[in-house]
Amino acid sequence: MLNKNVNNTLDSATKAQRIPVTNISTPTSSRKIHIREQKGQFQQLRTGMNSLLVALFFLLPFISFDGRQAILFDLSQQQFIFFGTTLWPQDFTILAWVFIAAAFLLFFVTVFWGRVWCGYLCPQTAWTFIYVWIETRIEGNRNKRYALDKAPWGSDKLKKRVLKHTAWGAIALLTGCGFIAYFVPARELYIDIFSFSASFWITAWVWFFAICTYLNAGWMREQMCLHCCPYARFQSAMFDANTKTVTYDAARGESRGPRKRNEASALGDCVDCNLCVDVCPTGIDIRNGLQYECINCGACVDACNQTMQKFAYQPNLISYTSENTLAGKAEPFYESYKFLAYGIAALIMISVIAVDIYNRNNIELNVLRDRQSLYRETLDDKVENSFTLKIRNKTQQTRLYRIYVSGNSAYRLMGEVDLKIHPGEQLDYPVTVVALPELLDSARNDITFTVAEQHNYSQASQESSFFAPI
Ligand code: SF4
Ligand code: SF4
Repeated sequence: MLNKNVNNTLDSATKAQRIPVTNISTPTSSRKIHIREQKGQFQQLRTGMNSLLVALFFLLPFISFDGRQAILFDLSQQQFIFFGTTLWPQDFTILAWVFIAAAFLLFFVTVFWGRVWCGYLCPQTAWTFIYVWIETRIEGNRNKRYALDKAPWGSDKLKKRVLKHTAWGAIALLTGCGFIAYFVPARELYIDIFSFSASFWITAWVWFFAICTYLNAGWMREQMCLHCCPYARFQSAMFDANTKTVTYDAARGESRGPRKRNEASALGDCVDCNLCVDVCPTGIDIRNGLQYECINCGACVDACNQTMQKFAYQPNLISYTSENTLAGKAEPFYESYKFLAYGIAALIMISVIAVDIYNRNNIELNVLRDRQSLYRETLDDKVENSFTLKIRNKTQQTRLYRIYVSGNSAYRLMGEVDLKIHPGEQLDYPVTVVALPELLDSARNDITFTVAEQHNYSQASQESSFFAPI
């Protein structure tokens, strides 16, 4: 699909002459990319979405629910707390379904809108643009940054570089804390890290993620998208002729060439200003056709529309469009079998999650029989069986429970049947069940233990066997 698209674009462009074909597969030269800052409709949208996501990333760990951090992967207690719901390792199938559903939703969106995830929502893109923004404020625009790279070391260059790397380092350290705040209580974490009183392992993990952030967003940038991200490699398999990707209208743009404003020209609409390349975070020339390096960020769309406006040409020489639309075939997107298949798969996954959550129980009960003896006969001609009930309170509050036993006879529980269990605690509670042998049907009888939460409807039951000398 990708190659077909490239070829299609090239075919029409070649007919219109003058399209450089030398850099289709190797768009990113070894030269460091300094992108030109671009304003416009899509950059506003991207900045807004990135800002919202970055703000959520830092603020979510500070939200409390029921007196506890609302979202917390508590590794020491082996529990995941999400707004009052606690998931234990045995509930992690729910998390697995959430990840699978998210993957199918991503595929679903990709079939329709291409790699919008990469351009608008991916943390790599968000943090890279934050780092570029800082770099631009300190070192100046794109031309000044290239000039500074070439300039010999002096006090001005040293000052700017120290300032830039300090700012990048500070953002990286905050990001490291932001990430670890999902695993340890956030409020104490920031204080402990910045007062150097955090434990060795917490400090080590914060610095590990800080260094990763600094290297990814400061140095690797587009290299992560080009060489490390698997999604970049397989996303083209999800595209079809109705997928909207950032596309250059070669039939309209070629032959390209510079000209003066307000001057009649026999050339195509591309004035060869090169702005679409200068603003591209992956350094590609979208005029060469669809390339896997394109993250659909729309910077070139804004840049080209700005040029089109200056020359009083129609906008959208570069636009979010599909192969079919460009070819004048307006096939509805929902006729795409991939769109339907991913949509149905995502719906099924979401339904499975809903059912799983609905059926989830806040009480975990396991019944273990006493292995020492099948039964005991008492002096007053009754039969006793012993069990251990393993009861876990999966909530974040202390709860009161009552134990019941039922079956084909009048079973009676010896001892205390009302229990108090603390949040997250698993209680191993030994119980003895007594019955009259003459009322039992057979040597092995089915009985059911039920643990019910008092003042609530939650309960858990498990079957076991009651043995008697018959
Ligand atoms: S080609 Fe355009 S949309 Fe694609 S990454 Fe470059 S600037 Fe963004
Ligand atoms: S920004 Fe538009 S006009 Fe300028 S080179 Fe790119 S496609 Fe041509």
